[in-house]
Amino acid sequence: MIMSAQVTMNQIKDRMPPISTKTKQKKPVAAASGSNIDSNYNRVLEVSNILHSSLEAEEILRKFAIEVSKEISIDGLIFVSSDEQLEVHIGNLERHSLEYTITLHDSRLGQLQMSRVKPFSDTEITTLEDFTTALIYPLHNAFSYARAIRSSFQDPLTGISNRAALQRDLEREVALASRTSSPLSLLLLDIDHFKQVNDQHGHQSGDQALKAVASSITDSIRGSDMLYRYGGEEFLVLLACTPAKGAELVAECIRSNIETLLIDSGKDNFNITASIGVSTLCEGDNTESLVRRADEALYQAKHDGRNLVVGAE
Ligand code: GH3
Ligand code: MG
Ligand code: MG
Repeated sequence: MIMSAQVTMNQIKDRMPPISTKTKQKKPVAAASGSNIDSNYNRVLEVSNILHSSLEAEEILRKFAIEVSKEISIDGLIFVSSDEQLEVHIGNLERHSLEYTITLHDSRLGQLQMSRVKPFSDTEITTLEDFTTALIYPLHNAFSYARAIRSSFQDPLTGISNRAALQRDLEREVALASRTSSPLSLLLLDIDHFKQVNDQHGHQSGDQALKAVASSITDSIRGSDMLYRYGGEEFLVLLACTPAKGAELVAECIRSNIETLLIDSGKDNFNITASIGVSTLCEGDNTESLVRRADEALYQAKHDGRNLVVGAE
């Protein structure tokens, strides 16, 4: 099939069947056992092995582009996966394109587009389709791996980052703030009398309250601020480039927004409050002392009557 200038990308797409495991299964089984192996299939296996050596989608696609280019010249490759929020661009998008939906079983891995200035011949299209099948399992494995990594840093109840993520980020943020002499503040928040919430409204309502607090804090901070579930009913916010005064304002905004939340227990609605300790990185501080000073301020807020923001000494 020679693609002429009139052939639009959509027309090409319409003519191309989606690549799937089915396509892969169409290969003669005997080929795998070695009796009738053609060189193209051998090469696809070789590419597949190369792609399997990585668990990072972008790297897999770069290796794929390199291997494909050894056989057929292409000028550009684009891969888009909205589920994985991934968009990889290699080279330039040119006039003639082949576009494939890459699927495994019923799950859609993404959209692959390969393009070049010159039209693709029928033989080249067949070879490219064969090569594209080699992408399926490596991409699937890379996405599964990325999801596992993401979920190991995520609190399953609220969907926000967990303590492991905090450990990963705090060291980095403290080092960055010290190196660039930019202010870094930390908020430690604890829901008041949360044991009573569970006792009076049930554990499930307690869980509802935790989710509501997490989304209320998310709505009260900037996209660049970092929120973590620190423990049971405790949350921690890292505010990069934020001095003490600014951090106390953010904390006050969070506190007052939580106070106005109405949690639905199924039977009735109830309110909750939270206390917040605020610390700001000082000369000689490290991760432990920064958290400890916020914790001491939080303790003071509890002592002073709760539903309060207290700044560390
Ligand atoms: P204070 O105002 O001094 O913080 O009192 P408190 O009752 O909030 O503090 P305490 O440490 O006595 O109780 C915390 C409660 O939080 C007890 C625990 O059962 C509850 N909790 C911790 N994690 C979860 C959770 O994931 N879901 C629910 N529903 N409750 C939780
Ligand atoms: Mg607590
Ligand atoms: Mg509490």
